[in-house]
Amino acid sequence: MTITPSENIKKEVDKKISDVIRNRIILQKKRFHANDNISDFINPGELEHLQKEVASKVRDLLKSLVIDIENDHNSQETAERVAKMYLREVFKGRYHKRPTVTDFPNAKNLDEIYTLGPISVRSACSHHMVPIIGDCWIGIKPGDKVIGISKFARVADWVFSRPHIQEEAVMILADEIERLCEPKGLAILVKAKHYCMCWRGVKEPNTSMINSIVRGDFRHDPSLKQEFFELVKNQPGGLSCN
Ligand SMILES: [Zn+2]
Repeated sequence: MTITPSENIKKEVDKKISDVIRNRIILQKKRFHANDNISDFINPGELEHLQKEVASKVRDLLKSLVIDIENDHNSQETAERVAKMYLREVFKGRYHKRPTVTDFPNAKNLDEIYTLGPISVRSACSHHMVPIIGDCWIGIKPGDKVIGISKFARVADWVFSRPHIQEEAVMILADEIERLCEPKGLAILVKAKHYCMCWRGVKEPNTSMINSIVRGDFRHDPSLKQEFFELVKNQPGGLSCN
């Protein structure tokens, strides 16, 4: 028996859209961990279907929590709101392509380091799916290419808008920045509050996690690394306060 292309499409429609997308990723032998971007496997128009599927699952979750979603006026549209929030806001960095970033030649051969920050970052922990909110500082020793400074904030927002653990988020951001502007040196520091520590568990509201990554010249030259940490420390909201 031969299957016509239209039958094939119908078969795909009958399947859950999450299964269709997952199968494409598996066929390409790619990863789809919580902090991976899977936008290359989502065709135009499919995100709307995925949002509907997620909403129906959130509805089931609310029902399993024995919440009266039929009669509780506060909970009636919650499933739709949560699905939209996940796919289009807080986890948009999984489902949407990286913002466009144009690079320019480093025409004046700048080789002094510069530091940007604080850039607000918002994520959620992969373990509990509750917020991680914090600040990020980026130090750059330029190479042959430069990008506009606002682009660092856009790329950081895209990378962090996924479920993460902080250590991996910083590494993924570093990889993206290296890909975009190939700096001679790169340093990133993130200081963030984890709501799985302040809202639940040990319920410790004042603890922040600080981690950093240094690459290229920042790694090889201790004085450059020192300069970056000094610059960050002395900024408002830097390491010495909060
Ligand atoms: Zn957690």
